Amino acid sequence: MVFDIADFDDHERVVFARDRASGLKAIIAVHNTRLGPAAGGCRILPYPDDRTALTDVLRLSRGMTLKNAMAGLPLGGGKSVIIADPARAKSPALLRAMGRAIDRLGGLYVTAEDVGTSVADMVEIRKETGHVIGLPVSAGGSGDPSPSTALGCFEGIKAAVRYKLGQQSVEGIRVAIQGLGHVGLNLARLLSEAGATLIVSDVRQPAVQTAVNAFGAEAVETDAIHAADVDVFAPCALGAVINDETLPRLKAAIIAGAANNQLATPAHGVTLQQRGILYAPDYVINAGGIIQVASEITGAPKEEVARRIRAIGETLLTVFNAADAEGISTSEAADRIAHSRLFAEREASAA
Ligand code: NAD
Repeated sequence: MVFDIADFDDHERVVFARDRASGLKAIIAVHNTRLGPAAGGCRILPYPDDRTALTDVLRLSRGMTLKNAMAGLPLGGGKSVIIADPARAKSPALLRAMGRAIDRLGGLYVTAEDVGTSVADMVEIRKETGHVIGLPVSAGGSGDPSPSTALGCFEGIKAAVRYKLGQQSVEGIRVAIQGLGHVGLNLARLLSEAGATLIVSDVRQPAVQTAVNAFGAEAVETDAIHAADVDVFAPCALGAVINDETLPRLKAAIIAGAANNQLATPAHGVTLQQRGILYAPDYVINAGGIIQVASEITGAPKEEVARRIRAIGETLLTVFNAADAEGISTSEAADRIAHSRLFAEREASAA
């Protein structure tokens, strides 16, 4: 029945991992390894049920295949989820059990941090497997990827503003940021320094207060942020924020943020196009972090990593132009370009 799930989409391997002693209940999804080992973060969330966790990991894993191909990285797509409340259940034993489950895949899957995990957690996983990136600098890694993700988003927002509003900078542009976590707060700082006006929300009041105090942001309720009267809506919390309920209430001309799987369904991408709202496809704009941590495998120097992150703006412009030229949504255009890169690599390696 796993094969019948719409999001299964030809995954190469899906592993259900259990370790009773540590309480580990995890799913590791390897979508595609054509371009290299399947790389993608490990998320810890208290999913309401196993099916929801499975759907999430499959969608995220497929997204990583497209993201890594689009970013020009020698990596395939994968993802893992641990079904647990990170605040209560995350322990060294749990992380090490996850490390052993990853190690059994022999390098087919490489993990990194994601929602609910941190660079410190990767050090714990590293005790059981070498197939982990996103390690702290002190452990020989490239450090927290979130600032790089935020920088890529910032470049993406600038590109979208140029394309849609014909403005060369974000000065005076109004941006609503949903979620002030590792990425959201870094993005808020970059936008504020560049002269943008910020409207913010988070379920954590201290994070909201930080943005209000540090960047003069205006705080709004979490159920109102998507409807804020802004130029750009930047989702930086969880997925499926563009859905039947929120879409009719959007006032922004641009949607450009870091969250994965922002569209509840592909049809919402088409509706955005029909409404004339420019959507920066999530896996294109949020690739900064994976570009950074991939350097732990590829050995790319810092300058090359920075150049590739800044190039996210150019990649988005390619996507926007292709969508307009073909009369399709930006998410469809991105998928086509990513698939053609996957396909081109396969042909090149077969030749
Ligand atoms: P995070 O957990 O540090 O931050 C998420 C923030 O969203 C938290 O502050 C949380 O309180 C807030 N939040 C949760 N529900 C909310 C709601 N309903 N309304 C408003 N705020 C809410 O995560 P992060 O690392 O900042 O990542 C943010 C998003 O970007 C996630 O979807 C993640 O998958 C994606 N992403 C992150 C990276 C990275 O490098 N960290 C890379 C690619 C994609």
